[in-house]
Amino acid sequence: MVAPPADDADVPRYWRELGLPGLVDVHVHFLPERVQAKVWSYFAHAEEHYGTAWPITYAASVEERLAVLDRLGVRAFSTLPYPHRPGMAAWLNDWSSEFADAHPQVLRSATFYPEPQAPAYVAEALDRGVQVFKVHVQVGAFDPRDPLLDPVWGRLAETGTPVVIHCGSGPLAGEHTGPEPMEGLLDRHPRLQLVIAHLGMPEYREFLDLAERFERVHLDTTMFATDFTERLMPFDPADLPRLAALREKVLLGSDFPAIPYPYAHQLAALDRLGLGEEWLRAVLWHNGARLFSIEA
Ligand SMILES: [Zn+2]
Repeated sequence: MVAPPADDADVPRYWRELGLPGLVDVHVHFLPERVQAKVWSYFAHAEEHYGTAWPITYAASVEERLAVLDRLGVRAFSTLPYPHRPGMAAWLNDWSSEFADAHPQVLRSATFYPEPQAPAYVAEALDRGVQVFKVHVQVGAFDPRDPLLDPVWGRLAETGTPVVIHCGSGPLAGEHTGPEPMEGLLDRHPRLQLVIAHLGMPEYREFLDLAERFERVHLDTTMFATDFTERLMPFDPADLPRLAALREKVLLGSDFPAIPYPYAHQLAALDRLGLGEEWLRAVLWHNGARLFSIEA
């Protein structure tokens, strides 16, 4: 039995003993300085928004954050930009593209928003080799079924490019969060390669349904099963067998750097689910490596 990591310094020992070459993390954020500062000041007032404090463990410079991921052994990670208003996505995509150019371990990330320009800048992002898109339904405050996005979803269903989508109602509900809009989107575009962020918290059960029903719907583990999340949005252990059965569709995500606990805790939280080492190997490395063609 491989012991879970005691702290961040112990993480490489953990994946090595599991027989893995490292970790693939589908849910990491790197944002332009100004945007990053705004996000962090929002978390500084987390008490008002979430009713709980949210100290950011890794609020450090870009270089330091890259060094932390490197020491942890995160061999590939996304940067997941997301806009909260129109006119912002194309600029975020340009920034993300430059960031990926400078850092080969980065999964080329981009985003979009319901606006007339979306099909054009999404096409441009695909031409630049984007590997993953991010959509945030609550922050963006739009319905994923917005007709302006229909051509974008159609294109992404064809290309099969993964889209990490924060669509559950946790930690904050929005007008368009929850399983219903997503079910409508998938009924229209059943081939979409979606990665449901945070395992759809707190609507875990309904999003497990979607992952079981639609061939290319995945789930990411971002903040899932941690002490922090279990306190606010507990997962019903009765659904663990379903999570075990979805082994090939669950991807490691962390939300680094804006997490209120050390990275090692996310891994230990997944470990203590008791789903076994095969499940952990699939989630921590193999599924992400397959989805993004990462060589060991
Ligand atoms: Zn996130």
